[in-house]
Amino acid sequence: AKELGTARHEVFVEGMDTQAVERWQLETDLRAGLQNQEFQLYYQPIISLKTGKIAGFEALVRWVSNKRGFVSPGDFIPLAEETGLIVPLGQWILQEACQQIQRWHEQFPEIVPLIMSVNLSGRQFTQPDLVKQIQKILDEVNIEGDRLKLEITESMMMNDVETAIDLLRRLKGLGLRLSIDDFGTGYSSLSYLHRFPVDTLKVDRSFVGRMEEGSDSEKYIQIVRTIISLGHNLDLDVIAEGIETEAQVRVLESLNCEYGQGYYFSKPLSAKDAEELLNQDKEW
Ligand code: C2E
Ligand code: CA
Ligand code: CA
Ligand code: CA
Repeated sequence: AKELGTARHEVFVEGMDTQAVERWQLETDLRAGLQNQEFQLYYQPIISLKTGKIAGFEALVRWVSNKRGFVSPGDFIPLAEETGLIVPLGQWILQEACQQIQRWHEQFPEIVPLIMSVNLSGRQFTQPDLVKQIQKILDEVNIEGDRLKLEITESMMMNDVETAIDLLRRLKGLGLRLSIDDFGTGYSSLSYLHRFPVDTLKVDRSFVGRMEEGSDSEKYIQIVRTIISLGHNLDLDVIAEGIETEAQVRVLESLNCEYGQGYYFSKPLSAKDAEELLNQDKEW
């Protein structure tokens, strides 16, 4: 039994080592990837459920690694966050997304407003010079702040609520729009929600996806209904994410949800393909 224990112990330690090595390797590759400009932005349309037309896009980062091939954000954003690499990466993402929305704004002036949503990570949120950096990008790219919407999560707000509210106010001061992402999945902040100077709630896709399947579907419709009412009572627009079926669209329309996003409308697209949709003046 003792021998077995020892053997197991060794396997365990080896496993740990492998993990640490893999992590280190991933970090090294991430740094190289930043150097070699291996990142791209994809754009998922956000649709007005009233008009069926594109109202904006969410920028989603993609890593096409020379060495690893396609790596999904779920597999490298957490490490980028831990290592702080998200700060330069996030800076690039903001810049690239702003340049793209500026180009589309010029090409498609009739779509008003055409808004670019960008995910902000917790680490970026606590960078002391965030507001200054964004101001600089807006100036350089020469766009109005209201073209850009930042998506933040409730948990980013809850560490130090007063400081977070102050930061959000300063971002609003640049004219930016703000959205609470994955609403309902983070730390509950219902008692603070009315104090957050945000414009939009995004209903998490875990709720939307359960609205029409399984024995709890009726409950999930009620949850989504409640989130939408909550948003409306606070004067916020609501975006439902992860819409995959027409039936979900119908339910969300009946609940007066303003915007929708999901594979039913479109997967995230390359800039070229997104532009093609804008050219077609696509209507759902
Ligand atoms: P998120 O912000 O909640 O982004 C939405 C995710 O849902 C995206 O995954 C999108 O491709 C996916 N999605 C959209 N519609 C559907 C649908 O109908 N069904 C399903 N099952 N999924 C759908 P993605 O691009 O893999 O990103 C995953 C997460 O990684 C994001 O979740 C976000 O937290 C993070 N992320 C992505 N891009 C960025 C970025 O540029 N910066 C930061 N800080 N985080 C990012
Ligand atoms: Ca998001
Ligand atoms: Ca989300
Ligand atoms: Ca998320």
